[in-house]
Amino acid sequence: MIRPLTVVTGGTRGIGAATAARLAADGHDLVLSYASDGEAAAKTAALAEAAGARCVTVAADVSVQADVDRLFDTAAELGVITGLVNNAGITGGFGRLADAEPATLQRVIDVNVVGVLLCCRRAIADMNGGAIVNVSSGAATLGSPGDYVHYAASKAAVDTLTLGLSKELGPDGIRVNAVAPGIIDTDMHASGGDPGRAARVGPQIPLGRAGTAEEVAAAIAWLLSPEASYTTGAVLRVAGGR
Ligand code: NAP
Repeated sequence: MIRPLTVVTGGTRGIGAATAARLAADGHDLVLSYASDGEAAAKTAALAEAAGARCVTVAADVSVQADVDRLFDTAAELGVITGLVNNAGITGGFGRLADAEPATLQRVIDVNVVGVLLCCRRAIADMNGGAIVNVSSGAATLGSPGDYVHYAASKAAVDTLTLGLSKELGPDGIRVNAVAPGIIDTDMHASGGDPGRAARVGPQIPLGRAGTAEEVAAAIAWLLSPEASYTTGAVLRVAGGR
């Protein structure tokens, strides 16, 4: 049987790394992109290889067209890709919109929206059927006032492009879905300037805690799998009831 070949952007830390580990265990070969942390990339790749996967890592900024082409050119050397997980994303920090730097707002849209569009655009050209999973956020439907309205808006765009592409690509045999995680315990909160966020907000969530990267990875793996063969255009919330 031919092994699935899946590109995971930002696949080397947090939710992306957990997804890589889960997909490797499920029998996927992997191409993982990252921004700059080569050490984390090497560690995640070693774990995937230990689980029996072929795994290549590529330093590639999803918001830069030439980097996206290099990422997918590398993947093409392994075979025809069957899956794409658009996971790379940033919050751009916390606070009120009036206090945010314009360059930060631009960067969040470039990575979270343009990056997903560029990766989808190239993947569609390369795929011969398969599945795309976009990592959105529960923020898309909460709005995140006082925290990061810009980030929530970028994820609402991800939900909408998921819906549109699912209809556009259904006839081509490509399913397109999203997962919308709630507060997940990863380094993303510290990167945005609030390391204690998951522990602080967890008790306010109906299930009483923050989620784990592995719990999101399980949803992503299901949406990529043949088990989800009639599921497209869905935004699967993995947010503990929030
Ligand atoms: P994370 O722990 O900060 O990891 C982010 C990953 O993305 C890293 O591998 C990073 O590479 C990579 N990355 C960042 N910018 C990139 C770029 N421009 N091009 C390519 N790769 C890039 O984040 P996370 O918490 O796992 O979040 C993953 C996704 O889940 C994001 O889309 C995020 O918005 C979404 N999400 C997270 C939460 C949460 O609570 N954590 C909730 C809802 C949604 P380096 O290692 O090189 O920096």
